[in-house]
Amino acid sequence: MAEGAIVAEGTVHIVGAGLAGLSTAVRLTGCGQKVVLHEANRFAGGRCRSFHDPRLGREIDNGNHLIFSGNRSALAYLAAIGAGGRLVEQPARFAFVDLAADPENDRRWTVALNRGPVPWWIAAPGRRIPDTRVADYLASVRLALAGPGKTVAQALPGRGPLWTRFWVPLTLAAINTTPERASAQLLWAVLRETFARGERYCRPLLAPRGLGHALIEPAVAWLEGRGAELRFGRLLRTVERQAGRAAILRFADGDEVLGADDRVVLALPPSRLRPVLQQALPGVDPPGDACTIVNAFFRLAEPPPDGLPPILGVLSSTAHWIFRRGDVVSVTVSAADALGVDTTAGENLIAEIWQEVRRALGLAAGTPYLSARINRERRATFDQSPAGVAKRLQPRTMLTNLFLAGDATDTGLPATIEGAIRSGERAAELVAGRAGTGTVRDTKG
Ligand SMILES: Cc1cc2nc3c(=O)[nH]c(=O)nc-3n(C[C@H](O)[C@H](O)[C@H](O)COP(=O)(O)OP(=O)(O)OC[C@H]3O[C@@H](n4cnc5c(N)ncnc54)[C@H](O)[C@@H]3O)c2cc1C
Repeated sequence: MAEGAIVAEGTVHIVGAGLAGLSTAVRLTGCGQKVVLHEANRFAGGRCRSFHDPRLGREIDNGNHLIFSGNRSALAYLAAIGAGGRLVEQPARFAFVDLAADPENDRRWTVALNRGPVPWWIAAPGRRIPDTRVADYLASVRLALAGPGKTVAQALPGRGPLWTRFWVPLTLAAINTTPERASAQLLWAVLRETFARGERYCRPLLAPRGLGHALIEPAVAWLEGRGAELRFGRLLRTVERQAGRAAILRFADGDEVLGADDRVVLALPPSRLRPVLQQALPGVDPPGDACTIVNAFFRLAEPPPDGLPPILGVLSSTAHWIFRRGDVVSVTVSAADALGVDTTAGENLIAEIWQEVRRALGLAAGTPYLSARINRERRATFDQSPAGVAKRLQPRTMLTNLFLAGDATDTGLPATIEGAIRSGERAAELVAGRAGTGTVRDTKG
């Protein structure tokens, strides 16, 4: 859509100011469309946000988020809101440590991708994962060919070192569930846009001042600066339909009666969408979204020593990924429920993860932390099994002026920043009447 071209008369009401709602709003506002963005919370960002934690005395994110240089929709969104410089690109080198039963035998390695689409790094024993063979990697093509009903575990042969050191951690991180449950097609969608295109597309992009500073605050400022209206503290309870259209948005604090030219985009996660649409579209049955990610945060007396990688993958441990920002170390535990992690364990969980962090970062035994906290996101992602994927909703609905966005709509991508932003792009296209297919599935290779 060309910036500045007025899309249509009437107002577009977007409900949900997570990345999907913000992305929809940015696209439409950029075209001169009048937009009102309604959000239940007092802040934007949804599942991708920063906040001040009094216990740590630091601003932290609700959880570590990884974006890659191949995430073209996220990069376009950042460019549109003038925030391209707020993410810092890292080289595509991925450091891992496997915590052995005996700390003396902890094993460390770094996967260093090469430039260009041909992955010759797998032919270099020093650059590939220890104890793996080139043939193991070649068998990975089966993931690309897997049908919609297949899980990662069903699609991929072999349970050797490549499985335990690459496929398992990658699936947990990208799909937030175990390979036995995760949709093979969703995992392939991630690889297709990053690893399969070469090093240039899988450089991690980090937000040194937090997700809010990089992705949310500039979008809110940009929208407000261009006349979009952001209304916080507005909880949508239900949508009322009349004559095949959404007619009234019933918010907890009052109704929004829609005019003849008004349109609506609901950018809500599945568990919130279901009750909102119960009356207007009773058959709507999105995937569940009770999939937990836990993050542990530790404030140290001083920043960890220089020379440590900014992101460290950890195996044979409760901790999966360790991120560092100044004197705060944060640890991601994906698929916490699927893996049976006792997320209610509080202090015990903190103590267990700290021991792993200390070993992984090579800190001396007995090194203390100043303060710590656990953040549990119980609805981090939708059910990304083949059955859950089959339930993803299309962005067009039976109501002519009602559209859906959000990471759980059928983008073809997993529940990610990239998927959420892309869903917003497509919802904006549909609102403007410019998308032909009515589906947000991305067929580009
Ligand atoms: C801990 C964690 C780690 C993650 N890690 C990564 C990662 O490494 N990389 C990655 O790409 N992605 C990651 N994700 C996923 C990513 O955060 C999400 O895919 C993305 O933020 C979803 O955006 P969304 O706009 O679709 O939904 P949401 O962010 O959920 O936004 C929905 C908005 O709607 C609002 N809302 C809900 N109900 C109502 C209502 N009735 N009325 C009005 N407003 C309402 C909510 O308050 C919210 O602001 C992670 C998520 C979590 C939780």
